[in-house]
Amino acid sequence: MNKQDDRNDLEILVSEMKAIKSPLRRYLNELYAKYKTLDEGKVADYIPELAKAKPDWFSICVVKTNGQVFEVGDSRQDFTIQSMSKPFMYGLALEQHGREFVSTKVGVEPTGEAFNSIILDEASNRPFNPMVNAGAIATAALIRGEDPPTRLNRVLDMFERYTGRKASVDIAVFASEKQTGNRNRAIGYLMLNFGMVPPNLDESLDLYFQQCSLLVNCRDMAVMAATLANNGINPTTGQRAVEAQYIPDILSVMYTSGMYNYAGQWAYSVGIPAKSGVSGGIIGVVPGKLGIAVFSPLLDSQGNSVRGIKVCEQLSRELGLHIFNLSNQQSELLD
Ligand code: GLU
Repeated sequence: MNKQDDRNDLEILVSEMKAIKSPLRRYLNELYAKYKTLDEGKVADYIPELAKAKPDWFSICVVKTNGQVFEVGDSRQDFTIQSMSKPFMYGLALEQHGREFVSTKVGVEPTGEAFNSIILDEASNRPFNPMVNAGAIATAALIRGEDPPTRLNRVLDMFERYTGRKASVDIAVFASEKQTGNRNRAIGYLMLNFGMVPPNLDESLDLYFQQCSLLVNCRDMAVMAATLANNGINPTTGQRAVEAQYIPDILSVMYTSGMYNYAGQWAYSVGIPAKSGVSGGIIGVVPGKLGIAVFSPLLDSQGNSVRGIKVCEQLSRELGLHIFNLSNQQSELLD
């Protein structure tokens, strides 16, 4: 173990000791116990490696913008980030090219379609938004670097700034994504036809498959969400992960398009910018306050974690997190 790991472990221990007696931690424990027995839904199996997830893995993490971490359940269980990588990649593309150029390659309109639908906006030939596969592949194609390792390293560096720990790709999941990724290839070729992505499409698809195969745990995801909530600064390390000027761009598309074809219902009933992924994670961002992550691989028919949605609905209701809930006082659990 190197010095960096020692320091992280010590910080985690101190934060856990502070959190252990807190009412918020007790509350999260109760939520965890309530939904632990809910076993509706199905683990994703369209990518063979994903089918190896254990259906009973479950964790809930909240990270406040003051850096306090609250974690319950299997919060250190690694899984692949999948579509939850998309908002962060969008932020990196914006930093590298600016808003104006990025908007010529990917739009910001919600689709109401499934994440992997093979459609582009007919008026502009752009993918609808960066949260569906088409837009995410176009976004990956924008990431700069003279060769594939340089591009991947830029992406890994970016994720390290968000999580505060070393980023790595699950090679078996990457291989499985690549082997079964013909639908994503079809989306890529359609965009190539319209000049939305450059001709080195295979490299961009590889980068997209690699970003989806990044290993994270529930705590990492809550820290990443809290970094967005904290205007781009990771509250556990103090390091800036993304320029503050792009936080509104990222959170807007998460709000309108982050939950597949459940995004409208989510915006209505939970009311916070969010993103889910087929490995069973959901992140939610309460601007200025906190990041939430829930991990449970049992998915509903839209590809969202069943327990994840239940937990977030209850959290939003009971802690008054809906961003348009102007009359509700913030719960004292968050003091
Ligand atoms: N790797 C997945 C795919 O492109 C991402 C799916 C997801 O999490 O929505 O099929």
